[in-house]
Amino acid sequence: MGKHIIRLFVFLALFIAVSGIISLQKEYVIPESIDEVEKVELSPEPEPEIMFSDLEILPGGFFVIYLKGITDRDEILLYTTLTQDKPRFFSYSEGKLAIAGISCRTKEGEYTCRVQVQRDGYIAAEREGILKVLPKEFEKQYLKVTAAQKSQRSNENFNEDRVHTERARAETWEKPLWEGVFLQPAEGRISTEFGMIRYINNEESERHSGLDISAARGTPVKAANSGVIRLSMMLKVTGNTIIIDHGSNIYTSYAHLDKLLAEEGTEVRKGDIIGEVGSTGFSTGPHLHWSATIGKTYINPESLMEKDPLEFIDAAQ
Ligand SMILES: [Zn+2]
Repeated sequence: MGKHIIRLFVFLALFIAVSGIISLQKEYVIPESIDEVEKVELSPEPEPEIMFSDLEILPGGFFVIYLKGITDRDEILLYTTLTQDKPRFFSYSEGKLAIAGISCRTKEGEYTCRVQVQRDGYIAAEREGILKVLPKEFEKQYLKVTAAQKSQRSNENFNEDRVHTERARAETWEKPLWEGVFLQPAEGRISTEFGMIRYINNEESERHSGLDISAARGTPVKAANSGVIRLSMMLKVTGNTIIIDHGSNIYTSYAHLDKLLAEEGTEVRKGDIIGEVGSTGFSTGPHLHWSATIGKTYINPESLMEKDPLEFIDAAQ
C-alpha cells in the first residue's frame, strides 16, 4: 500500500515537472537580441474633442455638437434637459455631429448639456455645457374660419396625416446632403411667422409650426436645399405635401401645394422646382406653409437661412 502511494507521488511529481518545462518552453522564448522583440504598433488615436456651436440660443433655433477624433469603439452618451427629442449622432468629416432643435415652447433659462465619450470602459472625453435659451416673444394671431374649414382640422385628420409624416421622417440620410444656407423656397411676403400663437375662432390652437409665404397660385416652389424626397402626396390637413430629407436628421416640408412636381424617393438639388403654390387642405387662401424639423422638433426655418449647421465645424477643422 505504502509503495503504491510513493510511486504515485513520484509519478505525479515527474509529470508536473515535465509539463512545467514544456509549458515554460512554449511561453517564454528568450529573444537573442532586441531586434527579435515583436513590435506592437500603437494606433495613433487622438483624444476625442467635444465642441458646441453655440452657448446662447433662441427658441426655434438649433445648436450643433461635434465630436472630433472618434473611433468605432467609442460609445457616446448624451444627456440634456434642453430637448425632448434626443439628438442623434451622425458621421461627418472625421467625427460625429448631432443637431439639437429648440422648440418654440422652450422657456428662457439655463439648460445642461453633458456629453461623454467612453472608450474601452474608460471616459476618454467629457464636457458639460450650460446652454442659455434667450427670451423671445411670439405674437398672437386670430383667425376666423367656417365650420367646414374647421372640420378639416379634426383630430382624426391630424392623426391620419401623422402616420404618413412620421413614416417620412423615420429614416434619415447619414451624411449631410444640404449645401450652405437654406433658401426661401418661394418668392413672396412672409404672412405668418414661426411659433405664432394661433386662435382659431377664438380658441387657442397649436403654435404655428412653420413660415407662411403669401404668393399667387402657381408660383414655383423650390427645394430649400439638396436632399431626398421622402413624401409627396395629398394629406388631409396640409393638402398636397412634400417632405425633403436633407440628411443628419434635418427635414423641410412644403404644404398646401397646388401641384406636386417631385416624386418620392428622388434626389433634388437646392433650387430645383418641386411644386406650385396652392390652397389645398386646411387653408384660407393660396400660400406656402414651409416648415423645418430636426427629427420631430419644429424649428424656425429662418434659422437655417441664416446659418449652415456645418459652418462652425468647417471653421474649426
Ligand atoms: Zn402655415
